[in-house]
Amino acid sequence: MIGAVDIGGTKIAAGIVDDAGRVLARLETPTEAARAYPDGLRHMVRMLREAAKQQANTELSGIGIGSTGWVYPFTGEFGDVDFLPGWKGCNPVNDLAREFGVRVALENDGDASALGEAAWGAGKGKSRLIYVTVGTGIGGGVILDGQLYRGADRAHPEVGHHVIDAFGPECTCGFRGCWEALATGPAMAAWFNAKSKGSKAAKRPKRGKTRAVSARAKALSAKEIFQLAKQGHLLAQEAVAREVHYLGLGVANLINLFMPDRIVMGGSIMKSVDLEEIRKVVAKGCRFVPFQKTELALASLGEDANLIGAAQVWHHRFGKRAGAA
Ligand SMILES: [Zn+2]
Repeated sequence: MIGAVDIGGTKIAAGIVDDAGRVLARLETPTEAARAYPDGLRHMVRMLREAAKQQANTELSGIGIGSTGWVYPFTGEFGDVDFLPGWKGCNPVNDLAREFGVRVALENDGDASALGEAAWGAGKGKSRLIYVTVGTGIGGGVILDGQLYRGADRAHPEVGHHVIDAFGPECTCGFRGCWEALATGPAMAAWFNAKSKGSKAAKRPKRGKTRAVSARAKALSAKEIFQLAKQGHLLAQEAVAREVHYLGLGVANLINLFMPDRIVMGGSIMKSVDLEEIRKVVAKGCRFVPFQKTELALASLGEDANLIGAAQVWHHRFGKRAGAA
């Protein structure tokens, strides 16, 4: 039984995951309550203990952590994580190891989920695998021959930050028009809401009820836009077509660069997108690679993918079949 911790922007989840990747117990706390590191550590310890207790006093054989943001897997230290600035330089790997007397492994959450899908989910048995999650950001991980791919200085590559439109919206990384700046839920919503406001302003008479109208124009979420599109709303359909186009371009880039056996796609946006539509975009280009050989699949570990991935982080580092990692 492995204790798993998933540290995200809105919540920190902890639980117990068995050797088949099943979540046996799970608790969570808002990230807000863990902004100061000592509080965060206290919550992680408490949740892991409670989860272990729920499982008939299971002894943990190890702990795996997946976290958003800049983390150092081999020292266990936290770097600059936007929503946890107070954690910089702190080391939950050492602290949890001391607390529980077990080995602890840490990875970026994109890598953690990639490892989870590779071991127990939609990437099983595929030696060249790319995992991509599309939600409020775009993250992911690359698995080659069962091993997590690491770059120079063993760094985690950022699949969300390849540029798709150099004149696109500003990205948090410094460029414009990254995949993440164009194809996330908030990016889709921002485009739709701006257009929607613009078209209403254009139709509006010059004098009169301007204020009342603009106050009523509510900003919609990506999920609501997908629903509107199904009901036949033209601008929403345009937003969906645009979303699919950008998702497809990003996938096509990954295929051109890596020609993986399979690309596994997860995250909230993928609940509303048809993979067949993405395939159509890929087929418009990619003429110089056998793109048909790259399978596209939806992630299969569901809502607990990050937690399950965190457990696999431990197996990948310390388990029976652990490689050089
Ligand atoms: Zn970027």
